Amino acid sequence: MVIRAFSVLVVILGLLAPAFAQPQSVLPALILFENVRLFDGRSPSLSANMNVLVRGNTIEKISKEPIAADPGIGTTKIAGGGRTLMPGLIDMHWHAMMVRPSVATLLAGDVGYLNLMAGAEATDTLMRGFTTVRDMGGPVFGLKRAIDEGIVAGPRIYPSGAIITVTSGHGDFRQPFELPRAPGAPQSRGEQLGAAMIADSPDEVRMRVREQLMLGASQIKLTAGGGVASPHSPLDVSTFTEAELRAAVEAAENWGTYVAVHAYTPLAIQRAIAAGVKCIEHGHLMDEQTAALIAAKGVWLSTQAFPDELAEAFPPGSLERLKARVVFAGTERTFELAKRHKIKTAFGTDVLFSPQLASRHGALLAKLVRWYTPAETLIMATATNAELLGLSGNRNPYPGKLGVVEEGALADLLLVDGDPIANVSLIEDPARNFVVIMKDGKLYKNRL
Ligand SMILES: [Zn+2]
Repeated sequence: MVIRAFSVLVVILGLLAPAFAQPQSVLPALILFENVRLFDGRSPSLSANMNVLVRGNTIEKISKEPIAADPGIGTTKIAGGGRTLMPGLIDMHWHAMMVRPSVATLLAGDVGYLNLMAGAEATDTLMRGFTTVRDMGGPVFGLKRAIDEGIVAGPRIYPSGAIITVTSGHGDFRQPFELPRAPGAPQSRGEQLGAAMIADSPDEVRMRVREQLMLGASQIKLTAGGGVASPHSPLDVSTFTEAELRAAVEAAENWGTYVAVHAYTPLAIQRAIAAGVKCIEHGHLMDEQTAALIAAKGVWLSTQAFPDELAEAFPPGSLERLKARVVFAGTERTFELAKRHKIKTAFGTDVLFSPQLASRHGALLAKLVRWYTPAETLIMATATNAELLGLSGNRNPYPGKLGVVEEGALADLLLVDGDPIANVSLIEDPARNFVVIMKDGKLYKNRL
């Protein structure tokens, strides 16, 4: 009876609550960038001098004419001095949980320690001007939540959750002594962490995909072929069957999103495309015919100009280092094919187990000027990458326009001390050259 009376009271208080609510709504902050030239993410040249008003988390107004400050609201003015305002950078192949630790630390380290490491790295990622990352595998949901809640500074994260792989595939980090696995046996360390899940039939694939979607994945990542970093997966192998890949695609599409696969070889890529995969990660060993197929099907290629240092994350003489060399040798041809076949190409880095390399994030982007103009390079890392993010459909965790500076877009902005189209190397030194870093309308850095 007491409980019932209490429940009634709670309900009544709930109904009355709006009447007691104070009318003072918190007005969104206004930030006015004055006298800036725009690289808007789409156009290959800078605009004339403009003024840009950000209200809350949105770019509200862009105008050649001075924008009057709203008298009722405190407005933070940033005197741009003719510097360049551009969209925050986007990395489409990131592993927020795997940048700082070594492989051994990842597999054996304390989970709290790994998360704190990833939080510190996320802050550094944002301070390098990367305001969004698409995380292509790893237990990143907690980090994403902490960032979104403002507990730790970091980029927006489009999470894939655990990489889904087959027994022996790229992402199966088990040692031979752990085999055979009896049905119902405890999960391996990688699975317990949520870093990689092993699935060996269409039904198992469906279950693992749905688990990631339930956890909040915005897209799904499978490994369709061998990989560099895992010890038991030769580069030439194709892993999932077409039926297994199709099961993943079906489960993802039922949730309004898509599957991206790790694949280097023509066979792995072709099979994935036949199964309905929408994005190929890497593709470094593709051939002419496969490039033509990717282009014809309108499939995305999310590829990387891997630097040689990445191979050094693996011990000298190791199989992993050897495999890295084989893949890296394909970089030149992959970009050449992507350009010639006009493949929709996204930029990402796939930095793994190397904080040193991560610190050169901007340089990894600037490296693309070997194949693209500086403007094309910057467009790829902003508006083009954002277009691929859009494939997440209703699973997009940050609905709104990213990767562009235009009215109505989300306010992820960098103020660059100079013209990054004329001098792309400016992005190699963000500490010096990015004088303002804004994400979601919030200033994380303002040196002016
Ligand atoms: Zn990767």
